[in-house]
Amino acid sequence: SAKVIDGKLVAKQVREEIAVEVTKMRDAIGIVPGLAVILVGSRKDSQTYVRNKKKACEAVGIKSYEVNLPEDSSEEEVIRHIASFNSDPSVHGILVQLPLPRHMNDENILNAVSIEKDVDGFHPLNIGRLAMQGRDPFFVPCTPKGCMELLHRYGVEIKGKRAVVIGRSNIVGMPAALLLQKANATVSIVHSQTKNPEEITRQADIVIAAVGVANLVRGNWIKPGAAIIDVGINPVDDPESPRGYRLVGDVCYEEASKVAGAITPVPGGVGPMTIAMLLSNTLESAKRIHKFK
Ligand code: NAD
Repeated sequence: SAKVIDGKLVAKQVREEIAVEVTKMRDAIGIVPGLAVILVGSRKDSQTYVRNKKKACEAVGIKSYEVNLPEDSSEEEVIRHIASFNSDPSVHGILVQLPLPRHMNDENILNAVSIEKDVDGFHPLNIGRLAMQGRDPFFVPCTPKGCMELLHRYGVEIKGKRAVVIGRSNIVGMPAALLLQKANATVSIVHSQTKNPEEITRQADIVIAAVGVANLVRGNWIKPGAAIIDVGINPVDDPESPRGYRLVGDVCYEEASKVAGAITPVPGGVGPMTIAMLLSNTLESAKRIHKFK
């Protein structure tokens, strides 16, 4: 059966490596990386994400700055805060927690973040550079970057291989496909309008699934020996769990793990990697801005 790709373990290693580098940088040049997080409104899930990001920063010695704005703030107000972080030398990464309130235009807001501090990698210029041959973005979006890091750390060869990405969202599927292509895989994208998705997926040596449909990818969709990265996080009813539900991926783990060569579990696969990559992007930014090593 498949080797388990342990994202929890890799994320811990990455965080430890970052903590060492943060200390080195502070001792050498007296600079501590800083991450600014802007949260608009009071969605419980967004508050939890922001809290977790701040905690993760603290644990590796990155300084975090938080701005909480009321739900009915204007776009101009949010942009004013972004602009002040853009010019603040102690801030190396700026993140606007999504989703934004409906009266705001995401693109206007994301466009206001300096591309050199865009640690989420959502600025259209960074996405554009990711799509261009011979160019590199300042930052790669955290979840797809985490998927690639898992493939690298588990020694999965990408060059010349066939990869299928299921899902084409701006935050996961699309950038994941661009990254695989940059790493010299031959990439197909399966989406909601794709005919015979199982047939296409079966050709893949590498599958990244980012759909949001529990257990969509069955064992018979998978080429024997393939590496499977499951981004999906889907609650399903489970009367035996104390919460009444449990989380499963987009891939049917029980079936897929019998066919695949390597696979990420849910939870404990891609999930923990996302915040680790945010810390990594923030450190990278501070190093670049201060020309450190
Ligand atoms: P999304 O809803 O923005 O995009 C889903 C994509 O899947 C769309 O491009 C759509 O075309 C495609 N799709 C829908 N139904 C399909 C089908 N039947 N067959 C093939 N493709 C189909 O979702 P997202 O933000 O990309 O997130 C996807 C999943 O990943 C969700 O479960 C989400 O919770 C999870 N997620 C996890 C992390 C993390 O681990 N840190 C981060 C982001 C998202």
